Amino acid sequence: MTSRCDEIEELAGFVADSYFPNDKIDPYKLAEANGISYNFGHYEDAFDGLLEYRDHAFHIYGNADRIRDESYPRARFTFAHELGHYYIDEHRLSLESGSAAVACLTDFQSDMSVEREADHFASYLLMPNQRFLSYARTCSKGSAAIRTLADAFGTSLSSTAIRYARSNVSPVIVMCWTSALRRWCWSSRDFYDLTNNWAFKDPSRLPRDAETVRLLGDPTLTAKPRGTTLSTWFPRVRRGSLQDFIMIEDVLSLGAYGVITLLYSER
Ligand SMILES: [Zn+2]
Repeated sequence: MTSRCDEIEELAGFVADSYFPNDKIDPYKLAEANGISYNFGHYEDAFDGLLEYRDHAFHIYGNADRIRDESYPRARFTFAHELGHYYIDEHRLSLESGSAAVACLTDFQSDMSVEREADHFASYLLMPNQRFLSYARTCSKGSAAIRTLADAFGTSLSSTAIRYARSNVSPVIVMCWTSALRRWCWSSRDFYDLTNNWAFKDPSRLPRDAETVRLLGDPTLTAKPRGTTLSTWFPRVRRGSLQDFIMIEDVLSLGAYGVITLLYSER
């Protein structure tokens, strides 16, 4: 999987540098440059986006009911994801040979391998590796870094947080929670062996005074970074053991969509 990921990163970086060597990446211009038409429509909860091949032409459908209009970071990510299905040879050839289009749930919501690959492409298209690393190294730690990077690259807080952890810019764990469950968890290299990204699934396992729980209860509250321990979040870390590191819990609210929790060490 690693080499496949590397290939996709390289492809996305090549496309980004070819079309937008100095500017923020514009997935709509990129669609137009490739002769791909698109529209935003109201498709209720059916999908975020969809790439269709019909009459020897590609068309992207964006679902305004889920990703709003084209200025929103989630819409940009969804379009970049659909372009992934176009640029990744196996995906495009499958559509051209008559396979049904995938009704996409983007931004790392799906575990299907084609969807993960298109998300991976979108992440590296909108946040080209060298540009992302150079900028991220100038940012302070925690939620402020995610906000700054999301603003700079026009990306959603969730896709930026995942990318930040995966790029190993600094040791960090990022998780996304709704009041019903923990949706995803990614750890940078320094923490992965300890966590395996297996955080508790059920938010009721978290302490009631955790910032994550407080903001899930009331998204209008302002988050304050606070001390915590790794075992509070990860069942495989034994309380009081040498691995039970002291961490900072820092939270970003996603409003109705839940919260992102960042854990990092103060040092
Ligand atoms: Zn897709």
